[in-house]
Amino acid sequence: MSDTASLVLDVCIIGAGPNGGTLACILAEAGIRTAVLDQAALAPMEHADFDGRAYAIAAGPQKVLERAGLWERLPIKPGPITGIRVSDGKVGKRASPLFLHFDSEEAGAGPFGWMVEARSLRMALNARLASLEALHVIAPATASVERFADHAVVQVAGGPRITCKLVVAAEGRRSPLRAQAGIQTTSLPYGQSGIVFAMGHELPHHGTALEHFLPGGPFAQLPLAPSEVAEHASAIVWTEKTAIAERLMQVDDESFLRELRRRIGTHLGEVRLLGRRWCYPLSALLVHRYTDTRLALLGDAAHGVHPIAGQGLNLGFRDVNLLADLILEGGDPGDTETLARYQAVRRPDNLTMLAATDVLDRLFSNDIGPIRLARDVGIAAVHRLPGLKRMFMRQAMGALMA
Ligand SMILES: Cc1cc2nc3c(=O)[nH]c(=O)nc-3n(C[C@H](O)[C@H](O)[C@H](O)COP(=O)(O)OP(=O)(O)OC[C@H]3O[C@@H](n4cnc5c(N)ncnc54)[C@H](O)[C@@H]3O)c2cc1C
Repeated sequence: MSDTASLVLDVCIIGAGPNGGTLACILAEAGIRTAVLDQAALAPMEHADFDGRAYAIAAGPQKVLERAGLWERLPIKPGPITGIRVSDGKVGKRASPLFLHFDSEEAGAGPFGWMVEARSLRMALNARLASLEALHVIAPATASVERFADHAVVQVAGGPRITCKLVVAAEGRRSPLRAQAGIQTTSLPYGQSGIVFAMGHELPHHGTALEHFLPGGPFAQLPLAPSEVAEHASAIVWTEKTAIAERLMQVDDESFLRELRRRIGTHLGEVRLLGRRWCYPLSALLVHRYTDTRLALLGDAAHGVHPIAGQGLNLGFRDVNLLADLILEGGDPGDTETLARYQAVRRPDNLTMLAATDVLDRLFSNDIGPIRLARDVGIAAVHRLPGLKRMFMRQAMGALMA
């Protein structure tokens, strides 16, 4: 393609992260004239190094990866989550004996979800994007966007001028297109940061994820599939007040492991660190509108939730699924009616998850006696009453599989 080529397309997606990239694959495969642009290079990788980051992908959003032709291309096998154990506790003490255990066999509908290594998804995505002949992949590149009542123009710096019907902003949390459209946002800082890394352990996890509520914030251990770095491994999302998280990022591996052991307990035997540690400041992001003239916001550009329930990307995949359905109906993909239908479904759903994760975090990230007692009694009651427990599982699976 020459640098000055003009392209007339249906959809131009800005941002080829997990959400933008997945939408691009679905649309291109279905014959929609699509371009996807990213500021970063998207070189197909033979085998990226293990970096300790992974997504918990629920059973419903997993189907979106299948739809995009990505699931079967994941080069590293995803690990099924077949059990979820929820407990309340204090650092250095055994988890409260009052706990909830959900077993996917009891719910009778296959695994609750899958652990997918971030590098695996990136490798599958980059390879798939490069293999779709009809798809225009432009990266690394930046572009300016002008939007009009009946079309939009994306001018790639030093590259083609793309005229299209719909621009999709999939640029992540700090979406420049969202700001350019004057869409307001409200950020709810948690004063917490999430430390993300992986650990190898002596004993098998049997597919069980652990959500351990500690006063500094939730501590999650998520079961990874065996890989070249360890036969038994788990991803950890460890939430702490930001000042403590920053200190933990500075300490040497031995001191870090000591703190880790005080939280993880002994059920996995001896533990060791794999890869590096990552730290993310946590906030929820409420976006007041998901659309503007010829513009739709997708994924993290449209919402941000606390990672307490590992739902950020899952919500994004549900945005992807609906937007793809609406575009594939065959009308004008960027007209006001289509955009209004997109917002009408996705915004309430995402807001519900934002509220639920916010309440969970505030309820559990404290050490106030009566609140601890109430939540422990609540957890134990759900565990003891099979009817109530089945209802919770159905609710959880329903929310995840919609
Ligand atoms: C600690 C933590 C743990 C998490 N765990 C989970 C989990 O277990 N499960 C889950 O579902 N979610 C999880 N999430 C959320 C998940 O990481 C995000 O929801 C997801 O990465 C968002 O994907 P995205 O494609 O919308 O945005 P991003 O991943 O941010 O991708 C944006 C893309 O746009 C590109 N870009 C940015 N600006 C421009 C520009 N101006 N022009 C062109 N390109 C641009 C970037 O290069 C990038 O490729 C977690 C988040 C955190 C912080």
